[in-house]
Amino acid sequence: MTPADELTAQLRTQVAGPVLGPGDDDFATEVAAQNTAVLHVPDVAVGLTSEADAVAVVNAAAASGTPVRVLATGHGSATPVTGGILVTTSRLTGVTIDVENRVAHIAAGTRWREVIEAAAEHGLAPICGASDNVGTIGYIVGGGLGPLARTFGFSSDWARGFRVVTADGSVVSANATENPDLFWALRGGKGGFGIVTSMDFELVELSTLYGGSLFFDAEHIASVFTTWVEWTQTLPEEATSSVVILRLPPLPFIPEPLRGKTVLSLRFAYIGDQAEGERLLEPIRAVAPALIDAVAEMQAAQIATIHNDPTDPGPGWDRGMLLNQIDNDFAAALLEGVGPDKELPVVAIELRHLGGATKRDVPEGSAVGGRNADYTLIFIGVPDPSLFDTVLPKVVDGVLAPLAPWISPETNVNYAGGFFIPGSYDASWPADTLTRLNAVRATYDPNTVFPYGPPA
Ligand SMILES: Cc1cc2nc3c(=O)[nH]c(=O)nc-3n(C[C@H](O)[C@H](O)[C@H](O)COP(=O)(O)OP(=O)(O)OC[C@H]3O[C@@H](n4cnc5c(N)ncnc54)[C@H](O)[C@@H]3O)c2cc1C
Repeated sequence: MTPADELTAQLRTQVAGPVLGPGDDDFATEVAAQNTAVLHVPDVAVGLTSEADAVAVVNAAAASGTPVRVLATGHGSATPVTGGILVTTSRLTGVTIDVENRVAHIAAGTRWREVIEAAAEHGLAPICGASDNVGTIGYIVGGGLGPLARTFGFSSDWARGFRVVTADGSVVSANATENPDLFWALRGGKGGFGIVTSMDFELVELSTLYGGSLFFDAEHIASVFTTWVEWTQTLPEEATSSVVILRLPPLPFIPEPLRGKTVLSLRFAYIGDQAEGERLLEPIRAVAPALIDAVAEMQAAQIATIHNDPTDPGPGWDRGMLLNQIDNDFAAALLEGVGPDKELPVVAIELRHLGGATKRDVPEGSAVGGRNADYTLIFIGVPDPSLFDTVLPKVVDGVLAPLAPWISPETNVNYAGGFFIPGSYDASWPADTLTRLNAVRATYDPNTVFPYGPPA
C-alpha cells in the first residue's frame, strides 16, 4: 500500500462524503473544473458533506504531512492540482437570509445565483460578480469586481465573517472582532489560510436598476470605444460600465444580428431612476446605431444578463491586469492591436471601469489588491487548448507592449490567471499587504498544510 492508499483508506473511515482515488470511477467527475483544459490529479479527492468532514480531512492531512487544496466550481482553475488532497465543496450548498440584519448566511459550495434568488425575495441583493455561476467563496477571497463595482466597491467589502477550518483542525470564526487578522486576509488574500465552510455576507436593498448591454457593429467599434474612454471620466459613481470587443463565431447559439461578427458590447448599470440613467447613457447612444440595445430598467436579480457570461464548462485561457487612467492615446494603441481589421485568436478583449467605491477600503482594512486601479483589462483566448501554451501568450504580449504606459504595476488576484506570468503573484497585492498576508499564513498554517502561490 502506498502512503496515498493508506491515507485514502483512513479518510474513508473518517469522512461521510466520497473519498476517491485516481483509479475510482467517479474521480474525474469529482475533480472536474469549469475550465476543462485543466485536469486535476490529486492523490485523493474528498467531497465534503459537512464541517466535520473538513475537520477530519485537515487532521489527517496535518498528521501525514499531506497538502490540502480546495475546489469549488473550478472557475479559477488555471493550473492542475497534482498530488495531495483536493477537497470539493459542491455538496455544501445553501443560503439563508437574515432579513432584519440584511445578511446572507452562505454555505461554502454555493454559487451566486442561489444567493441572488434568495435575497431577491426580500428586495435585497448581494454585490456579486458578472457571472452568477461563479462560486461565492472563491470570488470573495479574491476581492471581486462586479457590474456594480463603482457604486458598491469590491464585493469582499461586504463580507461580514467566515467560518474556517484552520491547519490545526479547529473551526474558527473570522470577523471584525474574532480573529480579525484572518478576516482581513480572507477579504482579498485568496488562498493558504484554511477551508472556508461558510460566509456571512451583507446585502443591499436593491430591486431594480437601469442596466443591460448595447452591441455595435465592427465599423463603429473605434468611435464607440474612444467615446467610452472619455465618457467614463464623466460618470458619477452610481454608474458602472464596461466594454468588450467580441469576435463571435458563426454558431447557432449566437443571436442572428451578431453571429460571425466582430462587435463591441458596452455594458451599463446605473443605481437610480430610469430617466437619469437614459440621460447618462445618451452620449453613447448618439455615437452610432446599435445592432442590439438591451439597456432598460431591469430586475436586480437579472444582473448576470448584463454581461451574459457563458455558463457551460469549456477550455479557457485568459490574461488579466489592471490599468491606470487611460486616454485617447491608449484607445488608439489598443485599437491598433485588436481592432476589427486584425486577425486574432482572441474571443474577447474586455475593459471595466473602476474607481468610485473600489478606491475606498473598509474602515478596518482588507487585503484586497487593486484599490488604486482605474480599469481592468482582460483577454480571453479562443477555446483551443493547442494555442494556450505558446500562441496566445505571444499574441497578447505583442498587443500589450505598446500599452505598457497605462498598465498598473498592481493587479488583483482574481485577474492573475494562476500566476503563470513571472512576478504576477507578487504584483497581486501591494508589498506591505503581501508581507502581512505571509505573516497571517505563518500564524494560522505554520506547516503549510494549505500551500498557495505560483507554480514551483
Ligand atoms: C466566466 C467567469 C466570470 C468571472 N467573473 C468575475 C468577475 O466579474 N469579477 C471577478 O472579480 N472575478 C471574476 N471571475 C474570476 C473568479 O472570481 C475567480 O476565478 C474565482 O476564484 C472563482 O471562484 P470559484 O470558487 O468559482 O472557483 P474555484 O476555481 O473552485 O476556486 C478558486 C479558488 O478559490 C479558493 N476557494 C474556493 N472555495 C474555497 C473555500 N471553501 N475555502 C477556501 N478557499 C476556497 C481556492 O483557493 C480555489 O483554488 C470570473 C471567472 C470566470 C471564469
